[in-house]
Amino acid sequence: MTTSVDTALIQSLDSAHFLHPFTDFKDLSSRGARVITRAEGIYVWDSEGHQILDAMSGLWCVNVGYGRKALADAAHAQMMTLPYYNSFFQTTNVPAVQLAARLASLAPAVGDRSFQHVFYSSSGSESNDSNVRMVRRYWDLLGQPRRKVIIGRINGYHGSTMAGASLGGMSGMHAQGDLPIPNITHIEQPYYFENAIPGESREEFGVRAAGWLEAKILEVGPDKVAAFIAEPLQGAGGVIIPPSTYWPEIQRIVDKYGILLISDEVICAFGRLGHWFGYEKFGYKPDLVTFAKAVTSGYVPLGGVMVGNRVAQVLIEQGGEFNHGYTYSGHPVACAVAMANLDIMEAEQLPQKVCGDIGAYFAQRYAELNDHPLVAHAETCGFVGGLVLVKNKKTLERFHADDGVGMVCRGHCFGNGLIMRAVGDRMIIAPPLVMTKTDIDELMRLIHLALDRTLVDLKARGLV
Ligand code: PMP
Repeated sequence: MTTSVDTALIQSLDSAHFLHPFTDFKDLSSRGARVITRAEGIYVWDSEGHQILDAMSGLWCVNVGYGRKALADAAHAQMMTLPYYNSFFQTTNVPAVQLAARLASLAPAVGDRSFQHVFYSSSGSESNDSNVRMVRRYWDLLGQPRRKVIIGRINGYHGSTMAGASLGGMSGMHAQGDLPIPNITHIEQPYYFENAIPGESREEFGVRAAGWLEAKILEVGPDKVAAFIAEPLQGAGGVIIPPSTYWPEIQRIVDKYGILLISDEVICAFGRLGHWFGYEKFGYKPDLVTFAKAVTSGYVPLGGVMVGNRVAQVLIEQGGEFNHGYTYSGHPVACAVAMANLDIMEAEQLPQKVCGDIGAYFAQRYAELNDHPLVAHAETCGFVGGLVLVKNKKTLERFHADDGVGMVCRGHCFGNGLIMRAVGDRMIIAPPLVMTKTDIDELMRLIHLALDRTLVDLKARGLV
């Protein structure tokens, strides 16, 4: 479908005025941004009328798909009733309360951990800043102010604010921001393909990779470590799915040293891994759970932290004033949209679908990509998929970073009506949870087409 948008005009205004996130401004300005004008279901359309299957759900967030009138209606109704009020000065609002109670009912207790409280923000980054504040406040209140160090992971992603980027382990971000801020340090990621020793099984590697946490705790000093933060699986780092042995060993270590465990579920919550929360999938017991994105399916910004009983009890009972919060904490419109979004997820049983037959079908079809000459380690977890593009399938020889092989493949995806994201030599997807088997077949057809064209292209360039 074509639209009446003047592409050239929007592109020139875009390059004149809009500095895009994570973008080489000069480069974009020389080529012009693709103008996305509308969306429906699992597809987006650009101003030139191209229909594109959005296998990234926007940015891992549009879990219920595009064009949901119920979400627009919820926003409209709430704006007409109470578009905004703050929750700083002993006031509250109905949607924020209802959503907090609902999230508490959706987050299952695990072992001695339960989740009855929510602290709201408007994004994943802000939520992780709140985590840093809460974690340090918790240890202060317990009379252990020396416990300040938070351990994250190399190639983990926790947002783009000063604290979020510091908790994350993206070297490019650290380099540009004089980061990390003090008292944040990192361990290596559990990336089997890259970090395993030859001959090491996945399970052996998982235990060894978790052991890096214990080594770091001992290096820092156990009495100085406040928390460990990790994504259930690394999303922005390229869909790095940890071995099954990783999380149980991490749990043993955090328990042994009594440090808090922060599960950053900005991607992995709300059905993405076939459960309401990612910690359920991997079976560990976090103290704090970061959420954002799919809580509203991205229709409006909302984020927050599920604060587990261990932390909440101390903050509430021993606390006094917590000097932290945002203008939009508990924004009524965002919370009303989140409620309508969760209604859809429940009515359509999206988490169940992902861990049921549709998820199994997706996993089986995606695994077939392992037969492609360019592909190694194609695997899924819930509705997330990743693969590595390799130069030589037998020896698993990798491309050189300068080859830009991921970007070549991404170009062929876009060119053929598919949005798949490139992270170095990894290609990743996180499709909307509303995909049918027919949609999955179409997705796989488009991925195969993009890979075939990438192969032809790389051969022509003499790279394979
Ligand atoms: N944590 C994780 C795990 C994320 O994937 C992201 C965003 N991709 C963030 C935090 C940051 O969220 P936001 O961009 O909403 O600040």
